[in-house]
Amino acid sequence: MSNFVDYVKIHCQSGHGGAGSAHLRREKYIPKGGPDGGDGGRGGHVIMKGNAQEWTLLPLRYTRHIKAQRGENGGKSQLTGADGEDVYLEVPIGTIAKNEEGEIIGEILEDGQEIILMRGGKGGLGNEHFKSATNQTPRYAQPGLPGEEGYIVFELKVLADVGLVGFPNAGKSTLLSSVSAAKPKIANYAFTTLTPNLGIVNYRNYKSFVMADIPGIIEGAAEGKGLGHRFLRHIERNAILLFLIPADSEDHVQELKILEKELKEYNPELLDKDFIISVSKSDLLDEELKNEIRAEFPEDRQPLFFSGVTGEGLIELKDAIWTRLHG
Ligand code: GDP
Ligand code: MG
Repeated sequence: MSNFVDYVKIHCQSGHGGAGSAHLRREKYIPKGGPDGGDGGRGGHVIMKGNAQEWTLLPLRYTRHIKAQRGENGGKSQLTGADGEDVYLEVPIGTIAKNEEGEIIGEILEDGQEIILMRGGKGGLGNEHFKSATNQTPRYAQPGLPGEEGYIVFELKVLADVGLVGFPNAGKSTLLSSVSAAKPKIANYAFTTLTPNLGIVNYRNYKSFVMADIPGIIEGAAEGKGLGHRFLRHIERNAILLFLIPADSEDHVQELKILEKELKEYNPELLDKDFIISVSKSDLLDEELKNEIRAEFPEDRQPLFFSGVTGEGLIELKDAIWTRLHG
């Protein structure tokens, strides 16, 4: 999973516009000839395009600089210069592009969606546009306009089906590694943010869903303290949340309340999401202790018990997740 990259910064430059032509056509009755200079072509755009086959920004990791082509100059006989070729950056769905000021330029939500990040410069007008009663033979044509230039930051929001929400040591990584092929490990490269760990969970014949381990939710995370804040953005669009309260928590119900409060402070809409409450590390409990914990929770908020270590309750957990997602 260390191949997962959710942040890249690329220097981009759109193409310069082609110059308009100031060509004068030879003509019998106009001694100096008629203006027939064509317009310059527009410079190439820098465009990001959604690609549902991609799931990480890894392919762009080593791209430092991108430059679109210059527009061609206009020619004689009203020949318009060709537009510069656009450059396409293929990105996964959920990618957000920001400019150097941190303003969002656009967000890819669908396969094939295109967003122009930097517009190519406009081509200049040829001299025929400047013909007037007083000037039949304008020698003036517009130059093309420069393209845009600057750094663009690409951020990928993970679109997981299930987001694991729990304090450090709740057993999130252990769960993820026991139900999916993901081997959770945080890749902390200089040019990536700390990333959540994604795992594809295979569920009964050939069905699967994506689970994201979002580590680091700690008290105060919503105010930006600690790392938690950074991870919270990855679960904004998760279809459902799985709360993990470890069996050895001192107060299970209270711990759930604190987790909910953290989410709410970050973004109240998160609490509108469907959720499942679970008690992890259930191998530490016998039936009697489980019943005690059940009694702590209200009737309509009963937890599922599971252990990522022994595998107990995992089938039931997957069934419950699948039903919430597709039931
Ligand atoms: P995370 O911080 O939520 O990702 O938690 P981890 O998965 O890294 O687990 C934290 C600690 O709890 C580790 O020492 C694990 O070995 C332990 N642990 C995790 N899951 C279980 C479980 O199902 N049973 C028991 N007994 N210990 C567990
Ligand atoms: Mg972890």
